[in-house]
Amino acid sequence: MIQTPEPASGTTSRQDEEFRAEVRDWLAQALNGQFRELRGLGGPGREHEAFEERLEWDRALAAAGLTCLGWPKEWGGRDATLAQQVIFHEEYAKADAPSRVSHLGEELLGPTVLAFGTEEQKRRFLPGIRNVTELWCQGYSEPGAGSDLAAVSTSAYLDGDEWSITGQKVWTSLAHLADWCFVVARTEKGSSRHHGLSYLLVPMNQPGVEVRPIIQLTGTAEFNEVYFDNARTAADLVVGAPGDGWKVAMGTLTFERGISTVGQQIRYARELADLEDVARKNGTLENAVVADRFDKAWVGLRVLRAHVLRTLESGHDGATVDARTAAGSASVTKLLWANWHRDLGELAMDVLGAPGLIADAPGDDLNAWQRLFLFTRADTIYGGSNEVQRNIISERVLGLPREARP
Ligand SMILES: Cc1cc2nc3c(=O)[nH]c(=O)nc-3n(C[C@H](O)[C@H](O)[C@H](O)COP(=O)(O)OP(=O)(O)OC[C@H]3O[C@@H](n4cnc5c(N)ncnc54)[C@H](O)[C@@H]3O)c2cc1C
Repeated sequence: MIQTPEPASGTTSRQDEEFRAEVRDWLAQALNGQFRELRGLGGPGREHEAFEERLEWDRALAAAGLTCLGWPKEWGGRDATLAQQVIFHEEYAKADAPSRVSHLGEELLGPTVLAFGTEEQKRRFLPGIRNVTELWCQGYSEPGAGSDLAAVSTSAYLDGDEWSITGQKVWTSLAHLADWCFVVARTEKGSSRHHGLSYLLVPMNQPGVEVRPIIQLTGTAEFNEVYFDNARTAADLVVGAPGDGWKVAMGTLTFERGISTVGQQIRYARELADLEDVARKNGTLENAVVADRFDKAWVGLRVLRAHVLRTLESGHDGATVDARTAAGSASVTKLLWANWHRDLGELAMDVLGAPGLIADAPGDDLNAWQRLFLFTRADTIYGGSNEVQRNIISERVLGLPREARP
């Protein structure tokens, strides 16, 4: 019998338990009341579900003081401890609360502005993220610059008191819904690789920005091509020094998928338990090979959880250990969850068998298992592909010979 992993260890101080009760009560009340229809909606592969309602949900969370928990109080956060942030994500996932629409601002741009931004940038942007009045997207990847981000060719130059930006980004998640984009652009003519880049904050709603949706395997369009054609942003909306954007861009990546992975595992455990129910009902669980794959999945989830908690508790997120160890831990985490989730999608298809080939949800739509199977192919790509993670571990952490560079 598969069980949801127990709460993280070390989270039992009185304040922590009071905090847990506050979060649990608020979620129970909201998800049994005004937001009852939103349980379980959204998330990777399902971002199209109830967007407006989930936006309202995020704003209700903000009004209750439950967004940006780890931020300093002066910027609307709660100075929440690591343990409290873990508690929040655990309770959030256990309550089957909807996927957040403002996560790119809260988890990526906000921490970046806190770490590298000016006081004026903090005043301008943090309240909009904290209160979910402005949504963000991430303008890194380009047709010729994905894994090799230093090949960015989108360019920008100062034209009076504004930057003029021209170029193309691709795979830009939620750009069609975002108010702002954090863009890595080449601002020093003739520069190459990670030199001469800047980290610009660019408003999306302007004539120089065109967003073209990319339809995915799942039939929905969560990411986009974004074309900048003399797009404009104010001269002071560069985070860090002009030309020093690589450092800032890498800083953002260290915030990607931190504490929220704890809640992610609870969602994974629920998916695994639901799939086990399907397998029990249709008899496939009696097949020893299938049963063995369920066992392996259960063990894999425990390994993932142990690794993530150890990483967070020992400051391997970059707070107290050297950059090499932090990079290695982050890459192991990424490999563990991405492969685990992709394998679950494959297991789901094998459990469903031939009926899994038919789109049988209302409107001939894909059902949740089919969506999971198709979208989890992307898990091993975004946030750094499997191959790139293995390169980091082998070259930067283990010190193996570097692969030949072009
Ligand atoms: C669902 C999803 C959402 C995304 N959202 C965003 C977003 O919001 N913003 C954004 O900027 N980007 C986003 N991306 C883009 C993502 O970051 C890139 O897809 C990723 O970095 C890989 O880049 P690429 O697609 O250009 O592939 P490439 O870098 O061209 O890689 C192609 C293949 O070659 C392999 N490869 C590349 N280099 C090496 C190497 N040195 N050694 C061995 N193998 C190698 C890769 O692993 C991959 O299998 C998203 C992607 C997905 C799938």
